[in-house]
Amino acid sequence: MSKQDAGNANGTGAGATSGARKGAASKPKTDSPFGGLTIDFGRGGGAGGGGVAPALPTIQIAEAPPSAVPATGGPATQPAEQGRTESKLIIVGSGPAGLTAAIYAARANLEPIVLGGTTPGGQLMLTSDVENYPGFPEGIQGPELLALFRAQAERFGTLVLDVDVDAVDLSGRPFRLWARGVEYKAESVIVATGASAMWLGLESETRLRGRGVSACATCDGFFFRDREIGVVGGGDTAFEEATYLTRFASKIHLLHRRDTFRASKIMVDRAKDHPKIDIHTNVVIDKVLGDEKVSGVRLRDTETGEQSEMPLDGLFIAIGHRPNTDAFRDWLDVDEKGYLIVRDKTNTKIEGVFVAGDVHDHRYRQAVTAAGDGCMAAIDAERWLESQGITEATTLTAW
Ligand code: NDP
Repeated sequence: MSKQDAGNANGTGAGATSGARKGAASKPKTDSPFGGLTIDFGRGGGAGGGGVAPALPTIQIAEAPPSAVPATGGPATQPAEQGRTESKLIIVGSGPAGLTAAIYAARANLEPIVLGGTTPGGQLMLTSDVENYPGFPEGIQGPELLALFRAQAERFGTLVLDVDVDAVDLSGRPFRLWARGVEYKAESVIVATGASAMWLGLESETRLRGRGVSACATCDGFFFRDREIGVVGGGDTAFEEATYLTRFASKIHLLHRRDTFRASKIMVDRAKDHPKIDIHTNVVIDKVLGDEKVSGVRLRDTETGEQSEMPLDGLFIAIGHRPNTDAFRDWLDVDEKGYLIVRDKTNTKIEGVFVAGDVHDHRYRQAVTAAGDGCMAAIDAERWLESQGITEATTLTAW
């Protein structure tokens, strides 16, 4: 299921997050939340509070065009240079940021290798209808869009490998990266590993994801026209999503576990003033109710312990995202929330290492902004490689 319009978009597949805002109305799908995209989330969602999304299982796409093969499971056509482990540029992550960087880098003859993750594609793989990515006036399924990104990157000579990067050594060039026991070497690296939505960690939440449970209001709000829904969280994302959802839903219940909010006062005040939004504090969700789709939630008052049931048609989890930086945090600067810190657009404190997409951007989190970021990182990488004499100076002619 999905992200918003093309929201959160890069990511190695640890699950990137969020997406594009669906603004334009296409076909009403109120009877079919998430547009008929079938995703089996049967692998479980992690116990305990605040888990990240589980690895993505097989995804069936209803109408993929013949040329667009889902990224899951590896490239449709095995590149001739399958065994290549060295490159001028290695890109980590295969969401819109990573694959756009690959398209640009490949067209600049950098012969990039993309280490895309074992569940490649990032948050777009969780998105059903993407209606705000330019160029698709009728909308497109998130996985289908990713498959097109990938086919375009491979067409120009990118080697995309569905492996997770376990460790890196950025102490000197060539930079070294390890994935599934194989060592890769590159003169430059673009980190485009995305961010993953946080989940409550309830079995019922995992089971009903794509069936009324979503982590992306901008992606899925459209499907809840005139429905009554819940939004979980007390930060800016929760309030922003609750406010956004007022354009679709008949009533939004904002459910927060404390009685004070991390969200900015203006966001809270706006929600309090909105006739469609009811704010419930000191409540936690013990269970998401429903068999085939969400029918409500079982709430528990954190002060009295009293339980109650609230009928709902949908539930949006907005409790934050976690950037996928595990392999890099010992080498690159991160902010207090763990997002990579960029310098001068896409650079990092290590020359030759660049960053693109949601792994540093928690503000926009859109597929199109991540793609733009990937483009910038590839151009910066190419110019840097030229400056080092590693490639010939062709910048501004190769794009
Ligand atoms: P935050 O970390 O700010 O807030 C997360 C919220 O989710 C908190 O209220 C937290 O509760 C709650 N929460 C976390 N885990 C659980 C759980 N397991 N069960 C129930 N509730 C839980 O994340 P956001 O995504 O809201 O914001 C991230 C950053 O992005 C912030 O800096 C924010 O300001 C920024 N942002 C800015 C926007 C804007 O300016 N328009 C829009 C969106 C985000 P508790 O408070 O009790 O810990």
